[in-house]
Amino acid sequence: MATLGPSAGLTRPAPASYTPDTGADPTAPAPKSKRMTERVDPKKLIKGGLHDWEVVIGMEIHAQVTSRSKLFSGASTAFGGEPNDHVSLVDAAMPGMLPVINEECVAQAVRTGLGLKAKINHRSVFDRKNYFYPDLPQGYQISQYKDPIVGEGEVLVDLPDGESITVGIERLHLEQDAGKSLHDQDPTKSFVDLNRSGVALMEIVSRPDLRSSEEAKAYVTKLRTILRYLGTCDGDMEKGSLRADVNVSVRKPGEPFGTRCEIKNVNSIRFIGQAIEVEARRQIAILEDGGRIDQETRLFDPGKGETRSMRSKEEAHDYRYFPDPDLLPLEFDQAYVDALAAGLPELPDAKKARFIKDFGLSAYDAGVLVAERASADYFEAVARGRDGKAAANWVINELFGRLNKEGRSIEDTPVSAEQLGGIVDLIGEGVISGKIAKDLFEIVWSEGGDPREIVEARGMKQVTDTGAIEAAVDAIIAANPDKVEQAKAKPTLLGWFVGQTMKATGGKANPAAVNALLKDKLGIE
Ligand code: ADP
Ligand code: MG
Repeated sequence: MATLGPSAGLTRPAPASYTPDTGADPTAPAPKSKRMTERVDPKKLIKGGLHDWEVVIGMEIHAQVTSRSKLFSGASTAFGGEPNDHVSLVDAAMPGMLPVINEECVAQAVRTGLGLKAKINHRSVFDRKNYFYPDLPQGYQISQYKDPIVGEGEVLVDLPDGESITVGIERLHLEQDAGKSLHDQDPTKSFVDLNRSGVALMEIVSRPDLRSSEEAKAYVTKLRTILRYLGTCDGDMEKGSLRADVNVSVRKPGEPFGTRCEIKNVNSIRFIGQAIEVEARRQIAILEDGGRIDQETRLFDPGKGETRSMRSKEEAHDYRYFPDPDLLPLEFDQAYVDALAAGLPELPDAKKARFIKDFGLSAYDAGVLVAERASADYFEAVARGRDGKAAANWVINELFGRLNKEGRSIEDTPVSAEQLGGIVDLIGEGVISGKIAKDLFEIVWSEGGDPREIVEARGMKQVTDTGAIEAAVDAIIAANPDKVEQAKAKPTLLGWFVGQTMKATGGKANPAAVNALLKDKLGIE
């Protein structure tokens, strides 16, 4: 490993301010945030000591492009590995080495742009962003500045309360990741691992359209879902495949945007929410105290639950951007874009609409099912040719509930879609009651097997034979004359009788038959 003097004092610079060319008419006024004119939602305001405040958030997401090799070299992008195992001469910036664009990374950026309903720019330019950092051997990062590959787009975000918002996307550009300085391996030395150096990133910049930490979390979650459906980024925040820079400002409702602070490199959705909350409150306290907000870059410390200043606007770097002379402008035609569009999978919004229409699901249930492609596929396999609502109910409540309890994902469910479909069939046919079905689910979960054969072998069939049910009902009525008397005046006691009958029949009595018989015998309407 290369060793360098201590460099722990260096902090990675923030992206410079830029005037993005999103392909729009340059003489047109800057596009306004779609939400600026919208009515303020009082529920989302933050109570200060003096006023209510509105928080305004815009995000820059760095998403690692799914591809086997790096943006400008053939070195592997595999996660892990020994330090400096995946480093080509280009990534190590040896003199005279030349970058060669990886076409798969270009295709992935275009696919992502299409998934964000964005303008695809047929011509884009790679620029050098110059700065020194020990893990950046080139002395500059190759990025896209004025002419990004993708321009304006949007993301539809469903919020937990059922409301939906549209978040504007300003741009998406391709850039290289840097290496990693390791300061904790030796008391006097820092080490550099260049495995990540040159890995392709997509920077996805949103408009300042978000108005609460909840909205921000839902936005990142939705963006990650789209990227995963597209297969353009694995969205694994623990491995650093998705990182967020969160821009936060506050204002009194109706006033112009306030000065923002940018919180760098937040690496979990929960921390994004926490960082916004503490940063908004910090700004509100300063403003209510008569102070003003300095535009600066901050870091979120999850342990202390606070943000700390990293550098102020005055310390912002001048990156001396200029077009990289080693790379020609990136150009492609509409036929190339069309071919990629034709290969895209059905995306979550379309799938959700289809689930609502074809299977009669509620928007909420459909939203839960499409959050992951694997869940949606599983549900569809269960629902095909069956009652969609019943299938959704079993997948969401029983299967997801059980998977969550054990911290397992849908990919390693012990109950296959075929098995769960079999259980749903047995309920639909009246062979088992819903209650027995839960026991059956448990058996299939832990022991496997064909649900129908299990029901057969273990005598779990529902008793629909009214004679047998009647005998149980009669016995309960005979044993509880006082309750029978009360039930005549208080019909809700019927539930107690139903419970007793189900107990007496080991949960196997057909509930509809039990209800009907009891009403008849107790004389309840
Ligand atoms: P820069 O290039 O200096 O980082 P941009 O205008 O490109 O500045 O904005 C970067 C991010 O900050 C974008 O995601 C944008 O939505 C967000 N942003 C801009 N102004 C504000 C504001 N007043 N409050 C919150 N976020 C903002
Ligand atoms: Mg920025």
